Amino acid sequence: MYQDGNNSKSRRQIHKGPPPVPPKKPRVNNNDGSGGSSQELSSSESVYSVPREKLLSCEDLTRLPVLYDDIVVECVYERYSSRQFYTWAGPTLVACNPCRPVPQLYTPTLIEHHHQQVKNGVDHRDAHVYSIAGVAHHRLTHHLGSVNQAVLVSGESGAGKTESARYMLGYLTHTETELQQMPKSPLKGVWRDKQPKDIQDKILASNPILEAFGNAATLRNHNSSRFGKLLRLQYGGCQLRGAEIDTYLLEKTRVTHQPERERNFHIFYQVVAGIKAGVLTNLAIIKEQNFAILPEEVTSSDLQNLRVTLSAFRLLEFSENHQQQIFEILAALLQLGNISFIQGDKGNWNINEESVASLKAVCGLLGLNEDHLAESLTIHTISVNSAHKTSVFHKPLERVSQCTERRDAMMQLLYHRLFLHIVHYINAKISAHRTIWSHFIGILDVYGFETFERNSLEQLCINYANERLQQAFMLKYLSAEHQVMKEEGFLGVDIPYTDNSNCVLALDSKISVFTILNEECQLKRAVRESEACERVCKALEHTGMVSAPATPGHTAGFVIRHYAGPVKYDAQGLLHKNKDEVPLEVWGLLTESSCSFMRNIVENSESTDQEKGRRTTRKITTLSKFKSSLDLLMKTLELCDLHYVRCIKPNAGTVTGVVEREYMLHQLKACGVIETVSISQAGYPVRISYEDFIMRYGHTRAGVDATTASIAVAKSVLSPPSSEEVATSLCRFGHTRIFLSESALYKLEEVRKEKH
Ligand code: ADP
Ligand code: MG
Repeated sequence: MYQDGNNSKSRRQIHKGPPPVPPKKPRVNNNDGSGGSSQELSSSESVYSVPREKLLSCEDLTRLPVLYDDIVVECVYERYSSRQFYTWAGPTLVACNPCRPVPQLYTPTLIEHHHQQVKNGVDHRDAHVYSIAGVAHHRLTHHLGSVNQAVLVSGESGAGKTESARYMLGYLTHTETELQQMPKSPLKGVWRDKQPKDIQDKILASNPILEAFGNAATLRNHNSSRFGKLLRLQYGGCQLRGAEIDTYLLEKTRVTHQPERERNFHIFYQVVAGIKAGVLTNLAIIKEQNFAILPEEVTSSDLQNLRVTLSAFRLLEFSENHQQQIFEILAALLQLGNISFIQGDKGNWNINEESVASLKAVCGLLGLNEDHLAESLTIHTISVNSAHKTSVFHKPLERVSQCTERRDAMMQLLYHRLFLHIVHYINAKISAHRTIWSHFIGILDVYGFETFERNSLEQLCINYANERLQQAFMLKYLSAEHQVMKEEGFLGVDIPYTDNSNCVLALDSKISVFTILNEECQLKRAVRESEACERVCKALEHTGMVSAPATPGHTAGFVIRHYAGPVKYDAQGLLHKNKDEVPLEVWGLLTESSCSFMRNIVENSESTDQEKGRRTTRKITTLSKFKSSLDLLMKTLELCDLHYVRCIKPNAGTVTGVVEREYMLHQLKACGVIETVSISQAGYPVRISYEDFIMRYGHTRAGVDATTASIAVAKSVLSPPSSEEVATSLCRFGHTRIFLSESALYKLEEVRKEKH
């Protein structure tokens, strides 16, 4: 499943070690303390097994004495079983989701502990998400490195990205408060503003609002973020001055279509709960009403969460009137979802009698004309330009699906615009004026690599983003590994790695998946989505990154060889989603509304051009929009020192107490941790201290230090008969450790066996 890329020196060629972990049954870890034993480890072919105690105490995967996939995953597994949820992989933090509350891991005392470790420059810092936040903060405030800092949090849905981001924000705001209270703060009085606590509270309050509007309960996570987010904390003179939020790719289709057993965005349930409890009033909804877009029940926690949302609104200075306007749009969306259609005598479609009340409610809430709304949902307007004049024709829509598509497009547009408006408003309240901040710490919480049974445009965007982030990560990590080599005294070591740049090129260069799909969307004539996919395959086959689906007769589409594995994208819906058109009729209707708030959010949001694009010759597609926002993000990240938190969940369902090793390995591969660790191999999979080496392969002698003794043993075993030098391809002597190749290890083990 792991791709080698086109790099001729791919890691598989140097890594002839044991095969990946053979399929093992998921192990249930009922025991909180002891976890499982490492017996299964000895069944692997590793000539060098690692005792459990060593795995448990190993805080950094790249410092494992043997760097094989199965031992890496074993280490993460054993540590997880003994409640050590964080482990380093070089500078990257691997964060396993505990899947249960562990408040003792996130206390002010621990924040202080990590703060001190970072401040004192401790060599081997304890693995913790606070430590990452601490380093970012330290580097920023001490003007080290690029000064701007960014923490990239990645992982599958439910792996703990949002929680990790929250804890880091907690660390940073807590540290800020502590700094202010320090009696001897060197900067006190010089740079502190009057109300720094106020800005912290506001930044923290942005979370519940964005979660209410952007999160939903899914099968994998009861509080799943359905958008990507970059929070930039702005610092001026070492003080937190404000923040700015960028969001990416809100899953707006969820407003109208929820996968089975999943919920709509939290806020809708909060609104209904609020109406039922009399907390929200005047919203043209009766308490008993049911809503088609709310597939699951409203619960008591929805009401509690509404109260949290409301107090966050107040903290962020959303006026009562403003809140009412927001809730009116949400109520209108609930009502819009209840509008259904019925066929008339002439084959045309009308609003169903039963939903006339909903239609009226929508018009009341959004300031629309009832006839206009009904028409815009059921009638197609065609304008024909001739030499002298423009003639307009009206034609009833022929299929009910066309009517519901119209309604859904309107709902998705409105919700997306409302979301953007809220982000925009929050930014206006929390961001500092450009003159008082100079640097930032970014926390990026985006979807991890996704592969489902059926993958569509959303997955294409998300996986593309992950390719780009992986590329940036590789470049950074490679330079870090070069640093390790330098520190150990080796120069000019060639580090093999999986280069994913070919995949990125196949996705977004001049002739690529993106450009072809975009071109197809520009064509005047209707294009079959399957044909567009065939074109993609034909044009890009030569890259080796794109191919036609293997099984003939299977649904049309194309397969992309991503760094984390091949993914098949379905043709169906691809172009439709890429076009992302709002019918002109709907657009016209909304901009004519008498409700100025709604008109403003529709017209003035950041991406207004998108719909207007339809009026110009070139359409702005979802892919081109996504690519530009990602280009911008990468530009921002280029200004930063990057820090990585790779979130891993112990099992697919985020169930407490179940640990599936295979599943963990899959994620460790997908997020590049295995690659990170194998880069550390660089041809020398075994790296052990001189002390450990001499214990195993020789014997200590009085007066001879471990390094000298080890080098002597290694030379006697590994050098050819006529020479005293060992080939550097077999073994290298670093300043602190000895680096062994596969065959050197084999030889040493052979000699050891003979001796015993
Ligand atoms: P993601 O953002 O990656 O989809 P979340 O951060 O929302 O995932 O985490 C999913 C759930 O997992 C949380 O609601 C919480 O129950 C649990 N969880 C995640 N991280 C932690 C943690 N560090 N400690 C305790 N529980 C956690
Ligand atoms: Mg999340």
